[in-house]
Amino acid sequence: MRAAVLNEINKPMIIEELERPRPKAGEVLVRVASCGVCHTDLHVMKGEVKFPTPCVLGHEISGVVEEVGAGVEGIQVGDRVVCPFIMPCGSCYYCMRGRDDLCEKFFALNRLQGKLYDGDTRLFRKDGSRVWMYSMGGLAELSVVPATAVFKLPDNMPLHEAATLGCAVFTAYGAVKNQADLRAGESVAVVAVGGVGLNIIQWAKTFGASEIIAIDVRDDKLANARELGATHVINSRETNPVDEVMRITDNRGVDVAFEALGRPETVAQAVNIVGDGGKAVVVGIAPIGVSASIEITRLVRRGIKLIGSYGARTRADMPTILKLASKGAIDLAKSVTRHYKLEQVNEAYNALNRGEIVGRAIIKTD
Ligand SMILES: [Zn+2]
Ligand SMILES: [Zn+2]
Repeated sequence: MRAAVLNEINKPMIIEELERPRPKAGEVLVRVASCGVCHTDLHVMKGEVKFPTPCVLGHEISGVVEEVGAGVEGIQVGDRVVCPFIMPCGSCYYCMRGRDDLCEKFFALNRLQGKLYDGDTRLFRKDGSRVWMYSMGGLAELSVVPATAVFKLPDNMPLHEAATLGCAVFTAYGAVKNQADLRAGESVAVVAVGGVGLNIIQWAKTFGASEIIAIDVRDDKLANARELGATHVINSRETNPVDEVMRITDNRGVDVAFEALGRPETVAQAVNIVGDGGKAVVVGIAPIGVSASIEITRLVRRGIKLIGSYGARTRADMPTILKLASKGAIDLAKSVTRHYKLEQVNEAYNALNRGEIVGRAIIKTD
């Protein structure tokens, strides 16, 4: 099968012919329809997040089940499925507490070593050498996924665009539902409205937010945000976002600010636009070692909560995400704005790196 292999940091990926992967017990082989183009992969490509090479990146996929490993129930060959990037082991300390988003094996074995939970990869070259997998290694024609992260797609949802349910939509849901615990009537601001930010806007609308303020530096992204539910937009290159948010909210600040970029200045900005007793939820990933500067007295005196949010709780949240998305909570057609082929994988990530992609791009592998 063909896969986009990253052999070296800061070098283009190369399309290689790998051995056909085989699922083991408890796993599913998916013929990938498409894989979303996400910043987290880009962090690995640029060496900002450490990961072994050679590897296959790509961590949000949709596709059709090709083969089912022993002991897998409820999933059949031919099912249209979507796979979120957090593939919980199902048995560690955190999985047992329902915190799939903190799965110890996922982080220790997959995210640090590129392996599945028997301690090996499923990707091999013809010479038998190993190629590591970032989540399921979605930038390929076939992916092996633990059955804990394989979900049937509702019939009315488009197969290709549904890939984004596995990271952008999933991560946004976790931030809005689990970490912000957003209530109807609360006001929201979203700093950076890329793939994840746009979905935070759509979930905030679904959860009944009163004001949804989108903040970004690009007018095309802000226009898209408005179409998907933002009630106010601020171009932070032209207007001071803190002053403008205060003006919109009668000088109180928002109940919840989401940061979806992972930069020190935008994290500080998120804290500074939250009202007394509000929450700043940070979703953006930064290169390792990067810190933000937060004004301590403002945080303490105003009772602000600063919360980190990583993905969502796969097994508990995916069924709800799919149900709500199929009823129209998420407009996949408007969220996914670019389609690339597997051969164009470097072009796609270069465009993402330049900040050009409005919403989400997907790589079609079928
Ligand atoms: Zn992602
Ligand atoms: Zn676990």
